[in-house]
Amino acid sequence: MTSKDPKIFAPSKVSLHHDRINAYLNGERIYPVTMELDLTQRCTQSCLECPYSVGRRPGLTLQLPFLEKLFSILGPHTTGIVLSGGEPTSVPHFPKIIALARAKGFKEIAVISNGSRLHLPEVQDTLLEQATSLRVSMYDWQDGETDSFLKTLKWIDILRNRAGKEGSKLEIGAAMLTRKEWSHRLKPIGLQVMKFGVDWLYFHPYCIQWESERPIQADQSGVLAAIEDLIRDAPATSNIQIPYERYSKEPLFFKHLHGSHFLIQVGADGVNYAGPECKYNGAYALLNLNE
Ligand code: SF4
Repeated sequence: MTSKDPKIFAPSKVSLHHDRINAYLNGERIYPVTMELDLTQRCTQSCLECPYSVGRRPGLTLQLPFLEKLFSILGPHTTGIVLSGGEPTSVPHFPKIIALARAKGFKEIAVISNGSRLHLPEVQDTLLEQATSLRVSMYDWQDGETDSFLKTLKWIDILRNRAGKEGSKLEIGAAMLTRKEWSHRLKPIGLQVMKFGVDWLYFHPYCIQWESERPIQADQSGVLAAIEDLIRDAPATSNIQIPYERYSKEPLFFKHLHGSHFLIQVGADGVNYAGPECKYNGAYALLNLNE
């Protein structure tokens, strides 16, 4: 990563919002800086250890009347929206949702996708015309490049070329999950992904035991060294980022969860939760927005 590349994952980013922090510290009500929203619990993949495998069983999808109300309240005051899932691009009204977010005032519209629907012209057009960034989560590369992995790269390439020709500002990034057993594949696969012209590539630890009260990281031994090796061999212009904080083994203690006021998490059930990892767990529900 060069020094000019902004960090994709940086807890310190919120410190840029001085006015909002001061208002919050003065006990005033504030609008969040960003909202992360699960458009749907449904997905086109069925990954082992999916974080939402238990919670998303009902297969809920947020509907337009709810979104219209929520976006009308937050859009004029909240800069960013992250549309996630499940697979957000599989929602039939996905193009209408993005257009609505734009119309209601969100300036940064990010979509997190598993890449399985990027071949659809309406999904491509929507992303190129209305979204700010697309983060494609790369799957199926651990044991050899599968057909679906190669197809995802192909659709990234097509989208990238269309963005260049059509003057779209869409940034396309890729994310890869890491664990000890896959670390020998990080360099060849990372180099391959970079070749397809992604604007950035970043990593996060694969977690296990999602069905339990406390999911934990799978063994990450050797992962950081493997990513650093990849960075050494990648072209100098590559924007490859390592969120070191996520790999820290320091225990985490906090008395208050301030972050959930600035980055709010909304599930496909319309409930605001304390954090992304505890979505759909009633013990961590903060506010039912349906009410
Ligand atoms: S693509 Fe993501 S949301 Fe879908 S099944 Fe896999 S881990 Fe779960």
